[in-house]
Order: sequence, then C-alpha cells, then structure tokens
Amino acid sequence: MSLPSHAQVVVIGGGIIGCSTAYHLARDHKAEVLLLEQGKLTSGSTWHAAGLVGQLRSSASITQVLRYSVDLYKRLDEETGLETGWKMSGCLRLACNEDRWTEYKRLATTARSFGMEMQLLGPSEVKALWPLMNTEDLIGASYLPTDGQANPADITQSLAKGARMNAVRIEEGVRVTGFEMEGDRIIAVETNQGRVACEKVVNCAGQWARQVGALAGINVPLQPVKHQYIVTEPIEGLSKDAATIRDPDRRTYFKEEVGGLVMGGYEPNPIPWTLGDVPDDFEFQLFDDDWDHFEQHLEQAIARVPVLETVGVKQMINGPESFTPDGNFILGAAPECSNLYVGAGFNAFGIASGGGAGWVLAEWVMSGEAPLDLWVVDIRRFSELHRDRQWVCDRTLEAYGKHYTVAFPHEEYESGRPRIVSPLYERLKARNAVFGSKLGWERPNWFALEDQEPRDHYSMGRQNWFEQVGAEHRAVREAVGLFDQSSFAKFELKGAGAGEALEQICANRVAKPVGSLTYTQLLNSRGGVECDLTVARLDEEHFYIVTGTGFRTHDSTWIRDHLPGGCRAELTDVTEDYGTLSLMGPKARRVLQSVTQADCSNEAFPFGRAQVIEIAGQPVRALRVTYVGELGWELHVPLAATGEVFDALMAAGQAHGIRPCGYRAIESLRLEKGYRAWGSDITPNDSPFEAGLGWAVKLKSEKPFMGRAACERIANAPLKKKLACFTVEDREVVLLGRETILRDGAFAGYLTSAGFGYSLGKPIGYGYVRNAEGVDDDYLLGGDYELVVATERVPARISLEPLYDPRGERIKQ
Ligand SMILES: Cc1cc2nc3c(=O)[nH]c(=O)nc-3n(C[C@H](O)[C@H](O)[C@H](O)COP(=O)(O)OP(=O)(O)OC[C@H]3O[C@@H](n4cnc5c(N)ncnc54)[C@H](O)[C@@H]3O)c2cc1C
Repeated sequence: MSLPSHAQVVVIGGGIIGCSTAYHLARDHKAEVLLLEQGKLTSGSTWHAAGLVGQLRSSASITQVLRYSVDLYKRLDEETGLETGWKMSGCLRLACNEDRWTEYKRLATTARSFGMEMQLLGPSEVKALWPLMNTEDLIGASYLPTDGQANPADITQSLAKGARMNAVRIEEGVRVTGFEMEGDRIIAVETNQGRVACEKVVNCAGQWARQVGALAGINVPLQPVKHQYIVTEPIEGLSKDAATIRDPDRRTYFKEEVGGLVMGGYEPNPIPWTLGDVPDDFEFQLFDDDWDHFEQHLEQAIARVPVLETVGVKQMINGPESFTPDGNFILGAAPECSNLYVGAGFNAFGIASGGGAGWVLAEWVMSGEAPLDLWVVDIRRFSELHRDRQWVCDRTLEAYGKHYTVAFPHEEYESGRPRIVSPLYERLKARNAVFGSKLGWERPNWFALEDQEPRDHYSMGRQNWFEQVGAEHRAVREAVGLFDQSSFAKFELKGAGAGEALEQICANRVAKPVGSLTYTQLLNSRGGVECDLTVARLDEEHFYIVTGTGFRTHDSTWIRDHLPGGCRAELTDVTEDYGTLSLMGPKARRVLQSVTQADCSNEAFPFGRAQVIEIAGQPVRALRVTYVGELGWELHVPLAATGEVFDALMAAGQAHGIRPCGYRAIESLRLEKGYRAWGSDITPNDSPFEAGLGWAVKLKSEKPFMGRAACERIANAPLKKKLACFTVEDREVVLLGRETILRDGAFAGYLTSAGFGYSLGKPIGYGYVRNAEGVDDDYLLGGDYELVVATERVPARISLEPLYDPRGERIKQ
C-alpha cells in the first residue's frame, strides 16, 4: 500500500467521529478525503461503547445535532446496505426526589421548545412499561419515545462504507506522526508510511486528539477517564424493546442487549487514565475489571432491577473515554492553526452525537464557518488556562461526577479555584463576596450580608442570594454601584489600516472620530451574530476592543481570521494589562467627578465617548457606556493600580450610598433594560434584525462589511422570527430560559434568557417569536401570550420596548 501524495482533506481517526466526518465531507461536499487510522476502524473508544442514543440537551443546536444522528442511523442501511442496529426503544429517566422531578418538568418543557414530545409518567405507568423495575421509590419518570439505541461498531462500519461509496480513501494501520507547517498552516501530514500534502486536516483522534493536536501546537483539552459497564446473561421477562433507562438518583443507566442488560454508571469518584500520552498501540484494548470501584453501581442497580441479584454477568467492559472540563464535546477550527479542525472529547455521548457531529463538522471544514450556533461545543470556548493538564483533569473529573446530579440553576464548579483573580479579590472577599468562575477568573456574583455565610445554597426555587441581589440592583438604580469586571477580554488593534480593517469586520460604523465608542456586532456570511462587543477609537489607528470574559479566544480568533489581506495593523490581547471597574448609577457622575480633575459633565464627556482621565494619579481609560441601563462609566485601569482606584471610588462614593455589586445584579439590570446577551439572545443563528439590533448595522452607508449581502437580504424580506420581551405577573414564577412561548395557544418559540427584574418586581424573559409567514410588530402585539414553565401554562405580557427607561434618558443625561 502506498499513500497518495496529496489529499484535499485528511481526517485522522477511524472511530465513529472520523468516519462520520469523512462520510459527510464526501457525500455533501464532494471533497477528496483521505482517512487515516493507526489501528483498525473502531479500535479506539468506539468498539466498546454501550450504544445508548439520547437526543435532548440544554442547547437547541446540540439537540438538533443529536436528532440528525437519529435520522441518519434510521436510514443509513438503505444507502450502504449495512445495518446500524438502530432501535427506537425510547428512554425513561427516573425521578426519586422533588428536585429531580422539577428538573424533568423543566426538561419536558425544553423538549417541547425544541420540537420534541417528552411525557411525564407516574410510577404505575413506568412499571407497565418496564415490569422488572422496582418503582417503589419513584415520584415518576420522563419518557422520550424517540430516543433509542444502536450498535456503535455497526454504525461506524456503515458510515465508513458510505464514505467509501463517495470515494473516500480509508487507510488502516497508518499513524499520523507529525505535521509540516508553513506559518500557522499545515501543508502536509507526516505518517509512519510517508508524507501526504493536504489543504485541510480534521483531528478526530479520540483520546489521542490532545497529543495529535500538540503536534501542530494546538490545545485539545480533554482527559481520558475509565468508564465501566457490565453485560448480563439473558434475563427472563426482559422485553427486546425495553426502553433504555437513566436512573440518575442512583447514578446508573441500563440498556437491553441480546436479552440481557447493559448496566453502567457515573460515579462521584471517577478514575482518570493517564496525564501523559495515551499509548499509540492501545488498540481494541480494555483495562482490568475494577469490581471494587463498580460495586457502588451494582448495589444501586440491584435496588432498581432486583433480578440483577441473581443473573450472571457475562462481561465487564472497562474502557477509556475522553471527557472535557465542561461535559461538552470539542468541535471546530483550532484557534492556533488556521486549517486544522477538531472533533473530539465526546464525554460518553459520541455515539449519540456521531452522525450529527460529522455533519456539522464537515460543513465547518468546507465553509470555514460553523453552520449553526455551536458555541457550547466550540473549541474557542477554551483559553490558555486549558493548557494546564492537571487543572483540566481536576475540572473534568468534577464534571464527570456531576453527570447525574440534579442540575440546579446557577450552579458553579468548585474544582481548580481560585485560579485567576483580579487585584480586588481579597478586598471583595473581605466584603463577603460570593464568587463564580468564568474561564478561570473568580468573579463576584453577589455579596452576602455581614452575618451571612458567603455561599450559594442551590435549590430549584428562589435561591439564598435572591434578596441580596435585589438590594444590589436597587443600589444601582437609585444610587451607585461598583462592579469588578476585570475579567473582560480586551484587545487592541493598532497600526496602519486598523480603522479600515475594523470597518470591514464590524456591522456598525466604528472608524468614527477619535474618542468615539461604538457597540457593534461582527457577522458571519449568513448575517448571524458571531461577536458582540464595544470598540473605542483611542487614536487614528489605535482601537481598544472590549468583549465578554468567556469570548476571549473566540472573538480574538474571529477578528484575526477576518483581518483583510495586507492589513498591517496588529491585534494584541491586553486582557491582563487592565483591571475594569464599572461605576454605574444615577450618582456615578458625582462619585467620578470627586476623584478626577477631568470634566465629567455630560457636555464634556457624553454617552458613547472614550477618554483617558486621571484617577489616583493613574491614567484610566474611561468608557461612557452601560450594560445596566444607568448613567455610568467603565473604567479600564492599569492592572496594578486597580486596587488603589477601587479604594478611591469607594471612599468618594460613601456619601452617595455606593456599594460593590456582582454579576447576578448585572443580569437582572440588563434584562430590564433589554440588552442582549451573546450566546443566548444573540447567536450565530440570529441576525441583528431579528434581534432588534438592526439600528447597529450600517446598511445606509455604502461600506462593504462582513455579512452585508446577507443583511440586505434579511432586511428586505419579512422576518421569520423576532426577539421580544415577556413579563409574568406572578412574581413567584421562576424563569430560567428555554420556557415555551405560546401565542394564541400555539407554539411560537422559546425563551433564550430569563430572570427576575427587581425594579419591575416581575420575572422577565426574552425569546424569538417565530412565524413562517412573517413577524412584524403588529403580529407580535396582535397575539395573546402564555409561557410554559415546567409544564404549567402561565399568562405573559409581551413588550417591544425596554421595560425600564424606554427612551434611554437615564443613561444619556
Ligand atoms: C464504557 C463506555 C461506554 C460508552 N457508552 C456510550 C453510549 O452508550 N452512548 C454514546 O453515545 N457513547 C458512549 N460512549 C462514548 C463513545 O464510545 C465515544 O464517545 C466515541 O466512541 C468516540 O468516538 P471517536 O471517534 O471520537 O474516538 P475513537 O473511537 O477513540 O476513535 C479515534 C481513533 O483515532 C485513531 N488515532 C488516534 N491517533 C491517531 C494517529 N496519530 N494517527 C491515526 N489514527 C489515530 C485511534 O486509533 C482511534 O481509532 C461510551 C464510552 C465508553 C468508554
């Protein structure tokens, strides 16, 4: 066998993900693909997977990806002649406590929002479906009839056959050993059998993806973890069509297999595999059975399915699977290398994801853009922090351990903290701050009372921070609040052509006179919102760009990737150079004026301007902007001086009722003001026009910019969806997002974000109202609305104006 000298796309790895990606690249895009597998197809994690296929996730897009998998597995055999073993057995999720039951009610509503029917069953209905189950401790179960199971190796072989039928060349026994690079691009893959020149590479190397990525300098933060299940002898009375079971309160799952049961679980004390490299020759291999570790599952499983006490165990499978620090897989274009794509880290749902992940990854590889909002799995959600293997391992084990715990709203991870702290950390801690973590940064979520324990108590209803956040909210509305937002990602674009380059990348006009500050979106070719940020023009060719903490890698990569050819301006990440203090509230001017000689009057320093002013002897970049709907400034302070400036502001603010406030207050304040949040209200799936941000798109100018053609199309046709605001009168209703919107009793969309507005005294939610025939303001206002909240219908009122300060008078005076 000799390898071809060239391939358009080289896919590394012949597991389910590599085979699915190769299949879709060839079938949908006619790409010329070479798939290289170091061992045999399926010989990594795929061959020993249990084969449960669930579809519902908390992200609409990922649910769409998983539903695509099911559609594909159903019919792939017609195309390839090879069965996938797909069986639509349905899935039961069992609830043994009230919190879990509430979780399922919300899940059932989410399912409906995403177009699936999830039923809620009582114990006797569960018993009727699954007679061998002990249902005594059950409150009930959710049932998704369209979930099922399949045979992982068969799906993969079927995909491989489909790929070959579309001219993909698959070579087994060929190991990729390195990459030949030209700058940040791969020009060839090196293998143990020679070199293959290529245009693009897709790293689907499973648990090896980290070390394969490292060969090109890219980081794939995953951790192999040992995962076990048993297969029993046939069980009398077990139906071949028995639903798969997830019993999270007992941390176990079940699936019928040749008359017996597959049973596994997610233990709170998972065992990682190596922190070093995974051996290349770990082919069709397993670890030794670990009965001591598995016993915890066995006990729980016997309590659930008593017949297991007497039935024989045919086999134990103890295999490695790649898990990630947030339980989501890793997809997309590597930020460090412009033609390397990744599909890895599947957290034990790679079989469920395989079909759909291959589909979207192939689209991404061919067009350079994610075809839908894939932010939750996007490789650009990570940062330098994720190069720390021990940190990644610790956080991954925590995420694994939480796989089956009740998912409480607002829950924070605990491992690997504190990791990155702002200079204010100790000061805020001394004031009883309760921190959350975002991309490694500790950030104050709220401030507990002096005699209150500074910690979150999670629950399904109102949590222990509710009143305190209300007090912070009111301080900002009535006096002044100070927020530590030092974790904001900050970039500078400097040098000849910077203004022109940004004009091409940004949807809004940003190259305005020096000192101007602009809120803008960056759009993809579909007109979808890829980034949402502010740009300050500090000098003719010097721009300061500020975006959300979590979007640091994503936004800087997007900007860098789209700088026009020949642009000599340089993009620098200056996040750690500046601390950020947001001084917000009607009394913000009085506080700021008392610590600076600069004129802070509205005439001298109006809204939408950026100036360098001096505070405590330090040059501070002051941006007159707000995300809370009040008069205020974002103060970007040389990092080392952040504490000093904080102290000066707090001292000056005493007379005006200043108080430090946290991120949960920001959320409530911005909901009242109608500011959109990227990743939920605005995503790559949504255009600015649909999001009510058409005013920030420079269609009136002749300037070309990314996404312009799509914007013109969208702006000149009836919109099919539009973001609107909803309020609920009953203040006890807890809105979290994903609640279904009913218009005149019929499905119209779902909430993208939600919370409580303390000034209004009501729950608030935002969501797109959809209608294929068109949505305009008359349509929006012409309906009666209800929200479905944890399966209950609740009357709701729609609003097209911000609920608070609709004309923006408070922020502009
Ligand atoms: C015990 C267990 C139970 C599971 N149960 C389920 C389940 O019920 N449902 C579900 O959805 N998922 C389940 N999973 C998860 C599922 O098995 C994985 O998510 C999935 O198989 C991952 O597929 P992959 O293609 O990413 O990786 P792999 O199957 O590991 O494929 C990667 C391939 O890349 C090859 N490779 C690596 N390095 C190189 C190189 N340098 N050159 C060439 N080739 C290379 C490897 O040899 C390997 O074949 C389970 C996993 C385990 C361990």
